[in-house]
Amino acid sequence: MQSPWREVSLSDLPLREDLKLQQAYGAPQFDAPVCLNVNENPYPPSPSLIERIAVAVADAAREANRYPDRDFAKLRSHLAAYLTHDTGVTVDTSRIWAGNGSNEVIQQILQAFGGPGRTALAFTPAYPMYDEYCRTTFTDLHTLARTEDFTLDLNQATDSIRKHRPSVILLTSPNNPTGTALPIDDIRAILDVAPGIVVVDEAYAEFRRGEVQSAVTLLPDYPRLVVSRTLSKAFKFAGGRVGYCACAPAVIEALKLIRLPYHLSVFTQAAACAALVARDEMLSQVEAIKAERDATVCWLRSIGLAVADSDANFVMFGKFPARHQVWSGLLRHGVLIREIGPPEYLRVSIGTAAEMASFRAALLTVMAAA
Ligand SMILES: *Cc1c(COP(=O)(O)O)cnc(C)c1O
Repeated sequence: MQSPWREVSLSDLPLREDLKLQQAYGAPQFDAPVCLNVNENPYPPSPSLIERIAVAVADAAREANRYPDRDFAKLRSHLAAYLTHDTGVTVDTSRIWAGNGSNEVIQQILQAFGGPGRTALAFTPAYPMYDEYCRTTFTDLHTLARTEDFTLDLNQATDSIRKHRPSVILLTSPNNPTGTALPIDDIRAILDVAPGIVVVDEAYAEFRRGEVQSAVTLLPDYPRLVVSRTLSKAFKFAGGRVGYCACAPAVIEALKLIRLPYHLSVFTQAAACAALVARDEMLSQVEAIKAERDATVCWLRSIGLAVADSDANFVMFGKFPARHQVWSGLLRHGVLIREIGPPEYLRVSIGTAAEMASFRAALLTVMAAA
C-alpha cells in the first residue's frame, strides 16, 4: 500500500517576498442559474460553427507532432483583415500580435517595457489585472482617479505623465468596470505627452455606441500606441483564449524577446482562424446585446439608481450603502453578478433577454426587502 503523500504548506515554500499574503485573482464563482458576472457573451456558437471549428482543430491535429507556426502568420492575417473591417483603417499583418487572451498580450507589454525602476500609469476604477501585470514584472504602478463621470481629468493626467514619466500608460476604453468610453481627443492628448508606450485596452470595442471612435484610427500617427483587443467578449470566444493587439512592427520585435516559445498552440491558431472566418456569425448577437444594455441602463435609471453610461456589454450601477447585501440577495435568487467598482456600485454583465428579466425581477425583490 502506498504511504500518504507528504505535504507542504505555502508558508514553508520559498515564495517571493512580494507575493506573500497576496490573493489569487478571479471573480467569485458559484453555480448560479443566471451568471452575469464576468462579461461573457451569453450566446454559444451555433451547431454548424461548432462543426467547422471541430474540423479545423482535427485538421491541425494531423501536425500536432510538430511545433506550431511560432509567428502564427495565418491567424495574424485573419486578425488584420477583421480589424480593418471593424475600424476602416487598413492594418497590415506585420502590425498584429496575439496571445492567449489579451491578458497575455498586455502582460507581455509590461514584461518588455516595464520592469524594475520603471513606472506604469493607470486610471481607477481600473481592470484589476493591471495590478497583477505590474506586480509580476516589478513595475511601479501609479494610479490616478477618474472623474465623477468616470472619464479622465486631462490636466491632472498630463501633469502626472510629465512628473512620473511612465514607460507604459494603460488606458481602457470602454473601461472595465465602469463601461465608459474615452473621447478620441483625450486619448490623443495623452499620446501627445506620453514618453513611452500607450496601451489602449479595447476589450469591449465592438459594443461601443455609434459616435465612439476606436483608437485604431490613431495608429498611423502614433507609433508608440498599442491597441489591444480580444475574441473573449463580442466574439463569444472566451474559452478559446485569444487576444491580440495592433502596433508598430518594432513593438512586435520587442514582444518577441520575452514571449515564451510557440505560445499559441496549433489548436488555438486553428480554432481562432475558423472563428474569424465566421466573423459575421460570431458577432451576430452584438446588436442584440447592445440593445439589451441600453434597455438595462434605462430601466435601472427608471427605478432611481445611479448608472454609468456604458459602451460595453455590462452596466455598473448603484449606489448601495450595503452593496454586499444586494449582491448576496441576488445570488440567493439565482442571479450572480459582480461586486466590483467604487464602494457602492455593482456590475451586471448583459445576458440574454430571459436572463435580464430574471435579473430585474431579483433586483426588485432584493431592493423591496432592504
Ligand atoms: C475581459 C477583459 C480583457 C480580456 O481578457 P482576455 O484575456 O482576452 O480574455 C482585457 N481587458 C479588460 C479590461 C477586460 O475586461
